[in-house]
Amino acid sequence: MSRIFRGIIMGAPGSGKGTIAARIIKHFNVKHVSSGDLLRAYMQEASNWGTKARAYVESGQLVPDDMMVEMMEKALLSVGHGSWLLDGFPRTRWQAEVLLSKHNVNGVINLVVPYEVILDRVKGRWIHEPSGRVYNMDFNAPKVPGLDDVTGEALVQRVDDRPETVRRRLEIYSSMTKPILELCDQAGILNNFYGSKTDGIWPNVLNYLKEQMVPSVEL
Ligand code: AMP
Repeated sequence: MSRIFRGIIMGAPGSGKGTIAARIIKHFNVKHVSSGDLLRAYMQEASNWGTKARAYVESGQLVPDDMMVEMMEKALLSVGHGSWLLDGFPRTRWQAEVLLSKHNVNGVINLVVPYEVILDRVKGRWIHEPSGRVYNMDFNAPKVPGLDDVTGEALVQRVDDRPETVRRRLEIYSSMTKPILELCDQAGILNNFYGSKTDGIWPNVLNYLKEQMVPSVEL
């Protein structure tokens, strides 16, 4: 069995991708290469790349493909012969094409969670703005509906969490990722993991990865 895994994790915002990625890193000797984290690190050190990227990142636009590809190549070079899991990259068909042409990518872990489930998850979220306390009407409700437990002040819903905003975000995600998923499917490396709960999806991801490489910790 190959002990090296070169993969990509994909999933819509709210699909539980962050949680699944964290569990993978915990259980396997895999370098998590997140394009967003890389960009934020470059921005923090005010490097050339960071300065260029800032305007795009802060306005919610994609960083130009050539720069992104170069940045990821550098990061992957530093991983050397080890395993890696890309997160947030590729975001465009071109990025995917370059990646697949340069590397032997073993698999894409694509989390497929129904939109209605994601909408429901986010819909229940209310916050107390001054403190940042977060409530969820479904599993962490405030004692008095609509009011903060500590101060009794009103709770609000983030504009980002409103159903119409979330739906729009999911539609954009879906149209951007479609060509990437098609390419990966044609390359025979697409693995879809369906489910409504992260804890339900995780065992399947774990089993898949155990076929690819040896876990670094006892399971
Ligand atoms: P993320 O943390 O993955 O949501 O990324 C934060 C921001 O970084 C995005 O909104 C984009 O502006 C930029 N970004 C991250 N990954 C990429 C990528 N693969 N291609 C272009 N821009 C990216």
